[in-house]
Order: sequence, then C-alpha cells, then structure tokens
Amino acid sequence: MKIAVLGTGIMGAPMARNLAAAGHEVTAWNRTPQKADGIEDVRAVRSPAEAVPGTDAVLTMLADGAAVEDVMGKALDAVPQDAVWWQCSTVGIEAGERLEALADRRGIAYVDAPVLGTRQPAEEGKLTVLASGPPAALDRLAPVFEAVGSKTVRLGEAGEGTRVKLVMNHWVLAVMTATAETIALAEALGVDPQVFLDTIAGGSLDCAYAQLKGKAILEDRVEEPSFELKLAHKDARLVLEAARRHEADLGLAPAIEERFALAEEAGLGNHDMAAVGRVSGARARRS
Ligand code: NAP
Repeated sequence: MKIAVLGTGIMGAPMARNLAAAGHEVTAWNRTPQKADGIEDVRAVRSPAEAVPGTDAVLTMLADGAAVEDVMGKALDAVPQDAVWWQCSTVGIEAGERLEALADRRGIAYVDAPVLGTRQPAEEGKLTVLASGPPAALDRLAPVFEAVGSKTVRLGEAGEGTRVKLVMNHWVLAVMTATAETIALAEALGVDPQVFLDTIAGGSLDCAYAQLKGKAILEDRVEEPSFELKLAHKDARLVLEAARRHEADLGLAPAIEERFALAEEAGLGNHDMAAVGRVSGARARRS
C-alpha cells in the first residue's frame, strides 16, 4: 500500500521504517524536517499536502489533538477520496470527535486506532493497536497494523479505541506515579528502594512496568525519553477531561495530573516520564 506518515517523532519514525520494511511505499513528513530525513526506504517530503496525493492510507502520529487538527487541516483536501485516515496519536475524546467530524466532512474513512507500547516496541514492530472504525476500513488497514504491531485489538466504532487508550493510560500513569512515590517513601524511611523492587519481583505484586521505570528512577536514567514527560502530562489531562465528562468520580487522576504538572514546571517536560520521580520525596528536596 501507499502510506503517508505525518509525524516522525519517537513513535512515528520507527513505525514508518517498519511499514517500509514490510514492503509498503511510505512517504513521510515531519514539522522538524531532519527527523523525516534518512529513515530507511522512506521518502521524505516538506509539507503535509505533498505527502498525501495518491496515498491509500494516512497515518497521523503527532503530539496532540491540536497538532493533528492543524496538520490534517493542511493535508485533507489533497487526500484521495478512497483513502483511509489512521489517527494514531493520543488525542482524547473531544479532539477525537472533532477529527472524525473533519474526516466526515470530506467523506474520508476515519480509523481511531491509538497504540500501546513505547519507543522499543515501536522500533521492534511490537505495538498493540487499539483499532476502531468502519469494518471495511479496519480490514484494509490490517496489513498496516501487522507491520507495526504484534497485536491488534479490534474494537467497535471510531471513538472506542480512544476510550480504551484512556483506560490503559490511567493505569500506566497510576503505576508510574505509584512506583515513584513508593521509592520516595522508602528513601524517606531509610529503606533501600531496591529492596521494594526485589521484594515484589516474581510474585503476584510484581509488574514489569514498575521494575522498568523503578530502575530508571533509581539510576536517575531519565534524560533519554521513551515517552516525554510533557506528553504523559497531556495524557493525564485527557484522563481527567474524560472522567469529568463521563462523571467518573476518580481520586487518583487529579493527584496524578498534579504530579506531572509539578514535574513539567520543574523543567522536566523533555525528559522521560519517569522523571516524575524527581518531584517526589528526598529527590524533590535535593533538586
Ligand atoms: P514525539 O517524539 O514528541 O513526536 C511528536 C510529533 O508531533 C513530532 O513529529 C512533532 O514534530 C509533532 N508535533 C508536535 N506539535 C506539532 C504541531 N503543532 N504541528 C506539527 N507537528 C507537531 O512524541 P511520540 O512519543 O512519538 O508520541 C506521538 C503520539 O503518540 C502522542 O500523541 C503520544 O501521546 C502517543 N504515544 C506515545 C507513546 C510513547 O511511549 N512515546 C506511546 C503511545 C502513544 P517536531 O519533531 O517538529 O517536534
């Protein structure tokens, strides 16, 4: 298939490379052009409108809803009528509805399919695709999903992928902040936080994500992002927005959002999300 990838950041670049490696004809655009240059077997172009003519599918993998609206606003008129738009960025419910309406106005099939997994699974083609949208469009995109992921969860109408992604993100952000705070508590009590990670290891309380991010916090290896803290903060806001809209009474979500806001205010926005550990406990007092 001919595929236009709009956004070649941490996730979009390896996804474009894996699509090309699977035999698709890939054209890519990125706001900072250097990031689209030199991706193996991918043709880089200098504007979103230049990327889409003649394409079978358009993949948007941009920071947030505002970026997708802006970029697709410039590209949509040049998208062929029979192409499918795979909106993969995490944008939340409200922006997702606006994007679907944008596609509807042009009569373009809209697939709402965010992904689970971070830098390494994206590089290895092992993402989980939360696929929702018109069944025929999902069928057409099946080989595209296969090229970037190891699992496709096929859901219902567009919007469902985003709702599942928000549920998953609440869990991810809660595990991240719980890990950071548990380490902070251990340090405050004079307990070696490695004892916490070793004690849960291999038992029913263990969690690979807690081990991964806990290790990053303990080694203070948070400057090379797999997922930038400012985007994790965006996701925390999207969870809150969704909870309020659907009247879910959540106690943790506002506290999680507050921790990420603190970390972003502390200038950690471009660090990995694990840098949220730097605004907890003794680490916060030291910095
Ligand atoms: P990233 O590396 O920061 O890439 C963001 C992309 O958006 C870049 O191409 C950036 O362009 C572009 N962008 C930002 N604002 C823009 C604007 N106003 N106009 C045009 N382009 C704009 O982020 P990422 O980690 O790849 O994440 C991309 C999306 O996937 C986000 O919605 C994120 O929440 C979601 N996601 C991320 C992960 C993860 O672990 N990393 C996992 C699942 C989902 P520049 O290069 O010019 O800045």
